[in-house]
Amino acid sequence: MNKKSITIFLIMYISILIFSWEVPKHYSNTNDYLNILKEDQKIENLIKDIRSNKGIEIAVVTLSVQDEITPKEMATEIFNSWKIGDKEKDNGLLILIALSEEKGKSRIEIETGYGLEGDFPDGKVGRLIDTYMMENLSKKNYDLAVINVLEAINDYISGDIDLEESSDDFNPIFLVFIIMGTFIIIVLIAIFTTPKCSSCGKRMKMSQKRVIKRATRYSAGQGLYVYKCPNCGNIYRKTYIIPRIGSSSGGFGGGSGSSSGGSSFGGGSSGGGGAGRSF
Ligand SMILES: [Zn+2]
Repeated sequence: MNKKSITIFLIMYISILIFSWEVPKHYSNTNDYLNILKEDQKIENLIKDIRSNKGIEIAVVTLSVQDEITPKEMATEIFNSWKIGDKEKDNGLLILIALSEEKGKSRIEIETGYGLEGDFPDGKVGRLIDTYMMENLSKKNYDLAVINVLEAINDYISGDIDLEESSDDFNPIFLVFIIMGTFIIIVLIAIFTTPKCSSCGKRMKMSQKRVIKRATRYSAGQGLYVYKCPNCGNIYRKTYIIPRIGSSSGGFGGGSGSSSGGSSFGGGSSGGGGAGRSF
């Protein structure tokens, strides 16, 4: 290693030390680090009801808003580090209340595991927050916000209530336009990002698109475009990155295996889904 690379390494190392945020240890299903939930026993009972009803694992967390990490990132980190949800079913749900001294900077985030995205798509999670939490959160009635949303989740999975997605004035014709527009843009991008021949200047044609390394949930993959000049037969190769499947990093396969009792979680990982609001 030369001097320059040592310096770069040190700068990176120090910035990791400064900016890293440590996931707190969980001690229960309700992890009220801010001491704002007085009805934690009631909350705990509701979480147990939901778990015995449909097996869904829920964790409630209260934390302060941090500078170095967004509440959404905090929620994902906690979710994956605690492995909320059954390892197979990935049916965890995290409710994070992140408070800030600044008005309007506090956040509620509800994060779901992959296995819940069918029953709890982002729109429905948003609806849960809007209908059952926002008013109480803005009045600082944190207990009531959490209790109401847990009761609503229990009613919803029992089929007692329906969660209409917040689809204010949505007109299906817009969807058609959006799909058509996206398609046209993709075609235009495909045409204009095709390289020009280095020897004769004609626009080349893609002759092959090949996956070299498949993307997994853990690492990005790599693919190869092969372009051929229709005029002189010149060949040009260009690699591209295939994004990692899903967006969460931690999750499966770690630790102590599944458990059904008490406050430990089963091995789920966040699907990156869910919804959040500021208040
Ligand atoms: Zn050519």
